[in-house]
Amino acid sequence: MSSRRNFLALMSAAPLTTPLFGWNGFARTAAAASQEAPRTAPNPSVIPPQNPNQMAGSPVGDPLPGQKWRVHDRSRPQARKVTPGLPIPVTGPSSDASVLFDGKDLSQWGTIGRDGKVTEPKWKVENGYLEMAPRTGSLITKQPFGDCQLHLEWMTPTGTDPSRVGQMRGNSGVILMKRYEIQILSSFNNPTYADGAAGALYGLYPPLVNPCRPEGNWNSYDIVFKAPHFKGEALVQPAYVTLFFNGLLAHDHVALLGSTAVEPIAKYQPHPAEEPLMLQGHAGPVRYRNIWIRRLKGYDS
Ligand code: MG
Repeated sequence: MSSRRNFLALMSAAPLTTPLFGWNGFARTAAAASQEAPRTAPNPSVIPPQNPNQMAGSPVGDPLPGQKWRVHDRSRPQARKVTPGLPIPVTGPSSDASVLFDGKDLSQWGTIGRDGKVTEPKWKVENGYLEMAPRTGSLITKQPFGDCQLHLEWMTPTGTDPSRVGQMRGNSGVILMKRYEIQILSSFNNPTYADGAAGALYGLYPPLVNPCRPEGNWNSYDIVFKAPHFKGEALVQPAYVTLFFNGLLAHDHVALLGSTAVEPIAKYQPHPAEEPLMLQGHAGPVRYRNIWIRRLKGYDS
């Protein structure tokens, strides 16, 4: 984690010398387009990286078991783009849900700093959403959770500095049990290493498809998370994640390799049956609204 942070901090500070976001199909004139030689038709559902900085971020890690890719493999293909049906799923909390954010206050949250200390949250609440405040750490729930169903909506706002690309553009994340990150990133037209895009199980799998909406539009995640089980120091059952991203299946009961913050590859370390949920403060701005969670119980309980 620390090496990634250091690297990202370096990238954040480094001047970018090449024009960014110059690629834009709508920006080219019809005359210019007509003078170009015909090329092999690209797959319009995949946006290739246009700038090497889009691939900057965490270093490439170890081979992923059962896959032909390494962690953060730069050659792994981008998830296929899909336009989600509208409206995206925006569901209010059920009677058995814990409301974590209803647009009004951060009473269910604290801020966790790099030293692990929890203090009063400093993210901004306005107009029914909360927004990541730079350099104020990540949010962390006051309550711990294990097996859960989680709904939240997020947006990367317009007007972000165009020199911020890849992992530096709208980077947050839903970090279950303080360890298991489902990535949030501005991923409508901002390619990065595939297992670091919005909806990725960070460092393990890209989403099955990329239904991310343009900046300034809300997206929704509906997550089913099964906590790992440990017996003493030994893992006896991994964590499982199912994700619906804007209503589309992005992960289908996928077993995690372990904490996504561990490099060069995820691994498990025993932890309590319930742990708080975090919203990562990384490279914003990112906004959230309508966050609720249900503790899952078995049949007949
Ligand atoms: Mg993140």
